[in-house]
Amino acid sequence: MKCGDLAEKLTDLMEGDLEEAEEAAALEHLATCQACETVLAETRDVTELARDHGRVLLSEGDQDRLLSRLLQHVDDSAE
Ligand SMILES: [Zn+2]
Repeated sequence: MKCGDLAEKLTDLMEGDLEEAEEAAALEHLATCQACETVLAETRDVTELARDHGRVLLSEGDQDRLLSRLLQHVDDSAE
């Protein structure tokens, strides 16, 4: 799995919607990619913050911001 693939699956991963094999591939990528792991850690913080305020899911705006940051990292790390 590449960073861009992970970005596409990030919201599904957070919501537990991935199939087992996809989730395993995503977690494997996260284990080997510091930048994606950092983005996901920040995403989790935001998700937990949202839960504290009674919202289970990120707003679409929040998701877009987080995904664009992840994709920016993908661009930065592209050869
Ligand atoms: Zn990555």
